[in-house]
Amino acid sequence: MVTRRPNIVIAISLALAGAILAIAIWVLAQMREDALRRAQDSAQNVSLLIERDVARNLELYDLSLRAVIAGLQQPGLMALPPALRQMVLFDGAASAKDMGSMLVLDESGNAILDSQSVPPRHINSTDRSYFFVHRNSPNVGLYVSPPFESRLAHDGLRIALSRRISRPDGSFAGVVVGTLRIEYFKRLFAGMNLGNSGSMALMLSDGTMLMRRPYDPKIIGINLTGTPNYTRFTKQDSGEFFGTAAIDGVERWYAFRHIDGFPLLLDVAISTRDIYAGWRRRAWIIGSLIGALDVTIIALAILFSQQLRRRLEAEETLRALARTDGLTGLNNRRTFEEQAERAWLQMQRTGRPLSILLIDVDNFKGFNDLYGHSAGDDALVAVARCIDSNARRPGDVAARYGGEEFSVLLPDTDNLGAAQIAEQIRAAVQALELRHVASAHHVLTISVGIASTASHHFATYRALVNASDTALYEAKDAGRNRSLSYPVAERAPSPGTITQPGR
Ligand code: GH3
Ligand code: MG
Ligand code: MG
Repeated sequence: MVTRRPNIVIAISLALAGAILAIAIWVLAQMREDALRRAQDSAQNVSLLIERDVARNLELYDLSLRAVIAGLQQPGLMALPPALRQMVLFDGAASAKDMGSMLVLDESGNAILDSQSVPPRHINSTDRSYFFVHRNSPNVGLYVSPPFESRLAHDGLRIALSRRISRPDGSFAGVVVGTLRIEYFKRLFAGMNLGNSGSMALMLSDGTMLMRRPYDPKIIGINLTGTPNYTRFTKQDSGEFFGTAAIDGVERWYAFRHIDGFPLLLDVAISTRDIYAGWRRRAWIIGSLIGALDVTIIALAILFSQQLRRRLEAEETLRALARTDGLTGLNNRRTFEEQAERAWLQMQRTGRPLSILLIDVDNFKGFNDLYGHSAGDDALVAVARCIDSNARRPGDVAARYGGEEFSVLLPDTDNLGAAQIAEQIRAAVQALELRHVASAHHVLTISVGIASTASHHFATYRALVNASDTALYEAKDAGRNRSLSYPVAERAPSPGTITQPGR
């Protein structure tokens, strides 16, 4: 009991600390999820914005290409004066920012119409993909070329958008082509906020890189076919995943989409480090605070439980001191009376016998006078040890009754058993051989009075005690160093003792 309560204090503190830790972990997990969700939302939003912008501009440009083709099919167009013809065919789109000149090429790849020059400049584009792709296949529709360096204007890389011109019989009649500077994509990407290590890339559907942020001229035009991320891009129209870029090895959250109506693929990615940077900082702070709180709680609980243990131990010691006799360590009289009352009630309940011994040291006043009070005390301690070592059964209670008198409570013991124990104690004290020259026995002895409910009916516990006192008186009277049971039938000297009158 003394050790259990302090342990409960520690157990409660551990449970409390554990609960606080669990709540903190849960909150941090929620915050981490929120951080990812925010990143997902912003990656989605940015990719939608870019898709819309790119799709709208390319659509406008495509409309201009279609308008040229439709114009070419108007009878009599070629008969118009060249300047007027140019105004009819090419609208203003071709002169917008980042848009290059628009050309109509004949089936041999020679420019026959030029949005920027009348007559057209001398250009032959047989070697350009935007020309031969259409010559080789009638069903390409809008073709978007890989980036290339313009031969006319040296102002950075461009991509070409082209459509085939077919004769009424379906045969190849040439190509209408316009160009777009990839600077347009670079500026578009630069306007988006993606954190420190975010990335964006616009690719042709075949994996050719058109533009990437962070910008690196070396990677424009490379083909990403076979890289893990590109492989995932090709599997769905749009999607999201955690992946690591082949280009820079940074782990990111990717949101990708195929731009509707164009052979283009866009990805927007936010780096895992950026996603969790704020969360990590907060997690450190919260984690350290919670850790400190938990350590404090446990430390306080340990301190408190130590104090509690010490107090309980002190209380226990005090309680034991209050129960025992200071000189001999036996029970004191108050404890004896409590135990005796309990034993008396139990005897009444169970009907089993209860015996009592009353012990008085013989001629002790003389012993004190002869050998001193201190030697007398030592003798009392020795006598107490003899008593204690002979009353060892569970339920036996030995006590210092007062002065040089002792008492022993023997539950479940009949008269015969009690007399045996009394005799053992008496013999043990005699065997101590504490010299007592004033005694007739020459050594210190005791007399014992025995009373038992087994041999006589006692109405009260007090009557039982009085009976043992009477027996003690008889023992003294019969010469001391002997034990006698109540009621004393006849006076019989114990072997080797001499009867001394008076007590
Ligand atoms: P009797 O054989 O008739 O019992 O003779 P007695 O001298 O023992 O007589 P009594 O019982 O009246 O004497 C009690 C004496 O025991 C009184 C006192 O001097 C001594 N005594 C009582 N308590 C203590 C104690 O704590 N220490 C010491 N040293 N002596 C004590
Ligand atoms: Mg006495
Ligand atoms: Mg005495």
